[in-house]
Amino acid sequence: MAGTFACFLPVVVVLETVVNDLILAYFSMEFGIDPAIPTYSGGLGILAGDTLRAAADLGLPAVGVTLLQRKGFFRQHLSSSGEQSESDFEWLPEEHLEQLTPRVQVTLAGKPVWVAAWRYQVKGESGHTVPLYFLDTNLPENTAWDRGLTDYLYGGDERYRFCQEVILGYGGVAMLRTLGHRSVEAYHMNEGHSALMILALLEEQTWGRGLGALKPEEREAVTRHCVFTTHTPLPVGHDVFPVDLVRNVLGDERTDFLADSRCCDEGKFNMTGLALNFSRYVNGVSMRHEEVARSMHSNHRIDAITNGVHAVTWTSPTFQKLYDRFIPQWRRDNLYLKYAIRIPAEEIWRTHNEAKRELLDEVARRTGVRLEPSVLTIGFARRAAEYKRHALFFTDAGRLKSLVREVGPIQVIYGGKAHPRDAAGKAIIRRVFEAAGALREYLSVVYLEEYDITLAKYLCSGVDLWLNTPQKPQEASGTSGMKAALNGVPTLSVLDGWWIEGHIEGVTGWSIGDGWQSAPDTAREVASLYSKLEMVIMPLYYHRPERFARVMRSVIALNGSYFNTQRMIQQYLLNAYLARKSA
Ligand SMILES: *Cc1c(COP(=O)(O)O)cnc(C)c1O
Repeated sequence: MAGTFACFLPVVVVLETVVNDLILAYFSMEFGIDPAIPTYSGGLGILAGDTLRAAADLGLPAVGVTLLQRKGFFRQHLSSSGEQSESDFEWLPEEHLEQLTPRVQVTLAGKPVWVAAWRYQVKGESGHTVPLYFLDTNLPENTAWDRGLTDYLYGGDERYRFCQEVILGYGGVAMLRTLGHRSVEAYHMNEGHSALMILALLEEQTWGRGLGALKPEEREAVTRHCVFTTHTPLPVGHDVFPVDLVRNVLGDERTDFLADSRCCDEGKFNMTGLALNFSRYVNGVSMRHEEVARSMHSNHRIDAITNGVHAVTWTSPTFQKLYDRFIPQWRRDNLYLKYAIRIPAEEIWRTHNEAKRELLDEVARRTGVRLEPSVLTIGFARRAAEYKRHALFFTDAGRLKSLVREVGPIQVIYGGKAHPRDAAGKAIIRRVFEAAGALREYLSVVYLEEYDITLAKYLCSGVDLWLNTPQKPQEASGTSGMKAALNGVPTLSVLDGWWIEGHIEGVTGWSIGDGWQSAPDTAREVASLYSKLEMVIMPLYYHRPERFARVMRSVIALNGSYFNTQRMIQQYLLNAYLARKSA
């Protein structure tokens, strides 16, 4: 039905009347949709949540599908030496979600497992809602082990994770059908975790004849509706499972089909391979990531659609008021943020300092540490994964000391959780604590526990500078600098991921290191980081605040207006969801 679209926006609104037909079913293992619902670990989940919010704003007939994760991701505790420990993050779905009555069945190792769903309504600016379905196996009909299958995000062993992915893929498709969604223009896999949905869709085509009897036109009927977004240039980011495990859980016919479809290699089944082989449209999440992904998967066509963040969600209340006053259309149409150039720089500066005060108050509430409002405040908060290099800033303690003595004071606010089994990630947090301790007399550093949506809102809007130091080319996109941009906060970053597109030196922020095409070189990056602070950023902040405020304004106009999910989802509509006729 949607293939007849000539131009999407007005038509989408009209089509809402075809109640159960969907343009988009968005599948993701994690969703960061609400600070009280701990079903996300980082950027992948935040992106999923922001995508649904943008779909709701546009009035798009769409749904999201994920797992309930009753015990959530985990709560993070940090000792005084930066040792991370974890506890379950239990939450009560009935306080936030509506329980639905339909049940569907998924087969695991030859035995049926029942799956129920809970619904969260994502409300758009215009009042349109997009439902997000959380699949749940905690039902009395199931065995104790099966009941726990939707408890932990990225928890358990290989078998646990694989069974979760069967529930997401097979259970998700079955649940959509039971809820009446039969016609879906695009099934979007946000990363490979949900790729088993492809088998479920193919099996529907064969009407019980089984995957061994699949005809080319049936395969084509599925492929033309599948969209796959890959998110990591790191091999460890791609899900692989032993073929023996797959055979045990899914049975011979499906496993043989996966092997025949070239999704298995050296005894391992690769979820990314399945998604790549059966999707009509595949993309990476920035221009640079497209190139890296193409080199990893050379026999596939891979495009780029750069990530965004949901503008209203990530704009602080103080900046929301400012935009409402000067550019009231910005909520409906984020492109109007371009007109931030008409906001007087003093207003930007004043509003920023309000957001900064709110952050510093929150830091004091959480830690008892009172940071100085007049001191240049740097923010760094991301999942504590090794390649993000949280401690790079501390590489040369001598240089930092002289910087502070000779140019001016600095304070730094950190955040970020390491995966419980990621020893290297945990070591990075300890390293920040050690370095900060050694420099205690020179600069204030606080590392906040429990980095989550609530904290990210404070941090990305309240610091003066967003620091980002990934090991290139491993940053697929990165999104927290985009959240900062919506609040006028400039970025100082290695040229990788989104920053290659967002960076204009001295206008939207500053680069660390040379051009993005140059080879990675840690020593040069470190030297560049300090010299940008010393020669450019600190003098600007301390001696030319009116010029710093003008940089803040151009950050909003240039990057806030573009790096948002409203632009992003329109690109998905034009290039992926509605483009199958022309492809
Ligand atoms: C935005 C966000 C992330 C992702 O940040 P990146 O810069 O993309 O790594 C992770 N965690 C939380 C809580 C966030 O809000």
